Amino acid sequence: MDLKDIKTQELVKKYNFKFSKSLGQNFLVDDSVLNDIVSGAEVNDEDFIIEIGPGVGTLTAQLLMKAKKVTSIELDNDLIPILQQELGDHKNFDLVHKDALKVDFNELIGDEKSVKLVANLPYYVTTPIIVKLLKEGYNFKSLTIMIQKEVAERINAEPNTKEYGSLSVLVQYYCDTKILRKVPPTCFIPRPKVESIVIRLDKLDEPRVKAKSIALMFELVRAGFNMRRKTLWNAAKSLKVNVDALEKAFEKSGIDPKRRAETLTLEEFALLSDCIFEFRN
Ligand code: SAM
Repeated sequence: MDLKDIKTQELVKKYNFKFSKSLGQNFLVDDSVLNDIVSGAEVNDEDFIIEIGPGVGTLTAQLLMKAKKVTSIELDNDLIPILQQELGDHKNFDLVHKDALKVDFNELIGDEKSVKLVANLPYYVTTPIIVKLLKEGYNFKSLTIMIQKEVAERINAEPNTKEYGSLSVLVQYYCDTKILRKVPPTCFIPRPKVESIVIRLDKLDEPRVKAKSIALMFELVRAGFNMRRKTLWNAAKSLKVNVDALEKAFEKSGIDPKRRAETLTLEEFALLSDCIFEFRN
């Protein structure tokens, strides 16, 4: 057992901490995973790091050694005094006692230029947190996150695979994605039932494609994947657009209405939604 193994387990014991399943508490006890998260995020002394869910502060401590400043957001009342006691003396550490889903990240980011999010995310809110962080347009350079393997595979998926869906399209619209490593359940206490993956999402300066209406494009994406087995034509009919306009839009786009959403690239979703946008008005 190495030093960091001892730290997580020692702190849990020292404070007689009781894990909460409903808060997604699986704490890391593997040194190599901690190192890979910090090096995968390429943390340096100019970075302002925002961490969601510090637990007893194992990953936080590693981040504090490399970054200019770390702000951690934790929801669990019982962890706040532990984190204050263990890390409160560090001048470059801030703790926010809140639900990450309710945080306005702009208030934390302020004028910071090099902002990176690093987290071993609680699995029960992984998707809503990622959607919030991307859709609300915060000024992050990257998100290096440990998440459930299946969710990482969906994020990283290409068209014509069963993993490809609206989450793939959303994340790839805003980011380059890179799977850094797999993490087995043995690297946590308590052990989760699922495998995990560390994935890095690098925010693009501009979204990968330019759609005339982002809202319409994502409506089309949602409709398409809600009805995965149906043709695009049937999915598009659920949008509030008249059939005449839809026919013209498909014709102009050159996209076969008999195709299914899972075969469309991001560029094709944007093209079709632009044509629908043009003819529906
Ligand atoms: N970072 C620690 C580690 O790697 O050992 C703990 C990670 S654990 C998977 C997830 C952490 O997120 C827990 O500390 C949990 O209390 C916290 N958490 C759960 N839901 C949260 C929420 N909505 N907002 C902020 N933190 C949350």
